Amino acid sequence: MKFYESVQRNFDKAAAFTNVPAGILSQIKACNSVYYMQFPVKIGKEYQVIEAFRVQHSHHRLPTKGGIRFSHKVDQEEVMALASLMTYKCALVDVPFGGAKGGVRISHRDYTPDQLQRITRRYTTELVRRNFIGPGIDVPAPDYGTGSREMAWIYDTYQVLKGGEIDNAACVTGKPVNQYGIRGRDEATGRGVYYGIREVFQDKMLMKKVGLDPGTEGKTMVIQGLGNVGYHTGTISHQEGGFKIICVAEIEGAIYSDDGLDIDAVLAHRKATGSLMDFPGAKNLSQRKKALEIECDVLVPAALENQIRTDNANRIKARVIAEAANGPVTADAIEILLKKGIIIIPDVYINAGGVTVSYFEWLKNLSHMRFGRIQKRFDQNTYGSLVDLVEKQTGKSINDREREMIARGADEIDLVRSGLEETMVNAYHQMRELMYKRTKIKDLRTAAFVNAIGKVASDYMNMGVFP
Ligand code: NAD
Repeated sequence: MKFYESVQRNFDKAAAFTNVPAGILSQIKACNSVYYMQFPVKIGKEYQVIEAFRVQHSHHRLPTKGGIRFSHKVDQEEVMALASLMTYKCALVDVPFGGAKGGVRISHRDYTPDQLQRITRRYTTELVRRNFIGPGIDVPAPDYGTGSREMAWIYDTYQVLKGGEIDNAACVTGKPVNQYGIRGRDEATGRGVYYGIREVFQDKMLMKKVGLDPGTEGKTMVIQGLGNVGYHTGTISHQEGGFKIICVAEIEGAIYSDDGLDIDAVLAHRKATGSLMDFPGAKNLSQRKKALEIECDVLVPAALENQIRTDNANRIKARVIAEAANGPVTADAIEILLKKGIIIIPDVYINAGGVTVSYFEWLKNLSHMRFGRIQKRFDQNTYGSLVDLVEKQTGKSINDREREMIARGADEIDLVRSGLEETMVNAYHQMRELMYKRTKIKDLRTAAFVNAIGKVASDYMNMGVFP
């Protein structure tokens, strides 16, 4: 099953639970603008024609927003699927953007950094020429195969072409902190995945369904893909939630350890040897895809779409699947897993941390000021005076560490993390309430789509587009 078809199927399943008029449902589903481009880039002594896409799925709110993917598998339907998911994701977590996505059909491993820079800059130039990028138009971000380095190139190219406009830094998010980025964006998607998993594992009703005690401490986790999302999900889930990472998979294979794997040590080993395999104290798995079939409390596919399909769904032994990647389970496989009683935390919710913190970065760029700059010192002084007063009144004094904890003003990173946590917790409870109130809605994904469709539909109805 194609990824785009899976997204449409998930939409249709949820749409049946709404009373949104059919015309508006069709409008919500449709991709509003699709831009396919081909451009030449000199690679070595040759010219290569690069194929690329930018899809703006929904203009119900502007700007549109979504990452740029570098992958040799990218095609128009994949980008359409990813752009559609962005619309529903933004609506669910109350981030006021329409959905978009970009794709460049290259494997980033085949190019030097200098060549990647030329491709990224040329792609950005094409977007500027067609008015497909801008702080109020369409704002890209990182995705598979791209990161803050590429976002800095995009910003610089935009700035060169559009110099003198005051809000230019808001044309792209996920930039390095010293290039108008925001603290906490790199870890945001993985941190959001952790917050979402934590909510599910604290949910007594759901935990009862899968036969687990509520709580995260000591629960086992398997991760497919140790890139940006997989790495941060693993390290934060272990450090803050006490999860034990028993298996990880990458392109070259998978490793397993009952005692738990230290992800930083695994990545250091990979850097030194060029592979995850033969990590001291761990067992090699015969094939990387076998990692998906390991028995565990939570399976985190954090690589690409269509990893769990009808041919392997029956062999999945996880109690919970957290879809950190977009579309890792096909619509047919979803039905098989739900019948097996597995809880699926859907992509539209669980990986929304990235776009949430991108929204904070966009706001920071528009306000031209770091979060916390105005109130941090004021809060610190106020809390410090309060502590002094309590000490004076009680005759007891607190130590420097306690004073540092109580009497400190929030920095940008504290505010970003707290805003992200608030967003993920709120959105979870919106989904959960829908699922428990509307007894015919049996799974979190359908609840997420019903919630999102309702919000997007209400925008369209208020626009007067359909009088
Ligand atoms: P990334 O390029 O940083 O990492 C992906 C990793 O997966 C790479 O290390 C790659 O080698 C590995 N991989 C690829 N195929 C694999 C396979 N078959 N088995 C095991 N490992 C494999 O990409 P990312 O930014 O972490 O994105 C991963 C997924 O998360 C994508 O689906 C993306 O759309 C989604 N996502 C990313 C963000 C973000 O902020 N970066 C936000 C939301 C969703």
